[in-house]
Amino acid sequence: MKRLFIRLNGRANAWPVFLGNSHPFYSPDDPDGLGNASYSIIGTKSADLNLQQIECELLVDAGNNTASYIIRHENRIPEALILTHPHLDHTVGIDWIAESFSHRHEFRKKYPLYATLPCWEFVRQSFPQLKKIIEFHELIPGIQCKIDEVNDIYVTAFPVFHGDSGFGASLLLLEYRNQDKNAVRAVFTGDMLCPLLRDRDFREIAQARVMYIDCNNRFSYPESNHGSVTTIDPKTGAKSKYLGSWLEELSFSKLAAPHLQQPFNSEIHNYFSGFLKDNKDIKKIPFSVSEFLKKAEIPHTRLIHYSGYEDEKCYNEKVLDDKELESWASQIITREGLNSRISVPRTGDIFRLV
Ligand SMILES: [Zn+2]
Ligand SMILES: [Zn+2]
Repeated sequence: MKRLFIRLNGRANAWPVFLGNSHPFYSPDDPDGLGNASYSIIGTKSADLNLQQIECELLVDAGNNTASYIIRHENRIPEALILTHPHLDHTVGIDWIAESFSHRHEFRKKYPLYATLPCWEFVRQSFPQLKKIIEFHELIPGIQCKIDEVNDIYVTAFPVFHGDSGFGASLLLLEYRNQDKNAVRAVFTGDMLCPLLRDRDFREIAQARVMYIDCNNRFSYPESNHGSVTTIDPKTGAKSKYLGSWLEELSFSKLAAPHLQQPFNSEIHNYFSGFLKDNKDIKKIPFSVSEFLKKAEIPHTRLIHYSGYEDEKCYNEKVLDDKELESWASQIITREGLNSRISVPRTGDIFRLV
C-alpha cells in the first residue's frame, strides 16, 4: 500500500434537518451534506487518491446515504465494516452493503463486521435478516484487533458513554503499521458524551495524527447524550448548570451499564476496574472537545455530527453554519491554550494519513 486516506462519507447527525424546517449548516442543495457520519479508510497503490487504484477500503459506520455515496464514487464493496455504536444513523446502510457482498459471492461468504458484542447484539435485534449475511468479529474494550481482510491495519475499541441506549458505544483507535513497523494512528470517537478511558489509553490516543469527534452542540447538554465544544456557559462564564446538575446524579454504574454483558466477561470487567482506578472522581472525565484535547492533544481535530439544536433551545445561542462553527471553535480551543488545528470538514473531505 502506497498511501492511506480517510474520506468523510457524511457528517450529519440522525435528523440533520427536521422536515418542514431549515438549518444553516445543512443545505438542501447539498444532498451528500445530509448523509449521516461515516468514513472510508482507503489504501491506494498510487500516490494520489485515484478511485480506480484502490487496494483496500474499510468503512467506519454506515447510515443514511453511505451506500449510495459509495456507488456514486468508487462503486466497490469495502473489505470490511467497523461500527462505533448501534444507532440507526450509523447502521441503517449495513443491509445494502452486506447484501451486495452476499450477491457478489453467491451467498457463500458472509460480510465481515467488527464491533463490540453489545453493539452487535443490538444491531442483530434491529435487523434480524443480517444474521445470515454477517460474519461478526468481536472488539474487546482496550484490546487491539487485527483487521483480517486488509494488511497492516489494526483497531482498538475504547468504551464511551453515549446514553443508556448507546450499547457498546466505542471510540475507535485505528493503527496502520508500515514496513518499518512505524505506527500511524487516527481516532473516530463516534457519538460520545464522554470517553471512559484509563490514563494509559489517553497516552495511546494522544499519538494519533487526526481525531474525528462528536460535536453535536457548542455548549454542554448531557441529556442529549452527545458532546459539546466547551463545558463553559456562554452567559455566566462558569461551568454549565446543565452539566453540573447531571454530574450530581452520575454514578460509575450508569456509565458502565451499556457496556456490560451476559455472560460475565472478565476482560471487560478488568477494563472497567482499570477505568475506575484511574477515575476516582468521575466528575473529572472530559465532557467536551476542549477537555478531551487537554488529556490528549491530537494535532488535527475534525468536528462531526453537528446539530446546535440544544444550544438554541437551552442557551438561546444561535445555530451556526460550518464556517462560523469552525471559526468559533478554533477561537475557544486557542483561548484554552491548545494547539490542535480545528476544522469542520464537508462531506468528501480527504485526510492523508500516510
Ligand atoms: Zn449519530
Ligand atoms: Zn448515536
